[in-house]
Amino acid sequence: MVFDRNAYMKERYENNKEHLKEYQKEYRENNKERIKEKRKEYCQKNKEHLNENSKEYRQSEYGQMICKIIDWERQGVIYYDMKELYYTWKMTKYCHYCWTLLVEGNYGSNKKCLDHDHNTGEPRGVICQACNRRDVFKNC
Ligand SMILES: [Zn+2]
Repeated sequence: MVFDRNAYMKERYENNKEHLKEYQKEYRENNKERIKEKRKEYCQKNKEHLNENSKEYRQSEYGQMICKIIDWERQGVIYYDMKELYYTWKMTKYCHYCWTLLVEGNYGSNKKCLDHDHNTGEPRGVICQACNRRDVFKNC
């Protein structure tokens, strides 16, 4: 029988491959809990880190502005200067329609809302929740 180097190498590789596979399988079998724990720990760490980051970001003035602008854009508001719009919105204290004192972040009838034309996307005014519900600028 002629010694075939290639066949030998191939066989060695095949043997090793099986061995490695076996070893990995064994490792996984024996360390199931540890691997699971590690993965969980990693996710938990990352989750906390991400949450912390976005919480901080949302609480910053700039983050609040960006969140609001994204929110408006999602609703279909179109304006040439969204930042300008945000400052106007921010400084508006009374409903443009009924002069109710507006409360930012409130979910009651005096919640500060941005009214916009649903066809053109053009903002029409800063109004209270009650006026927004009645769509007071619809026929203006
Ligand atoms: Zn109003």
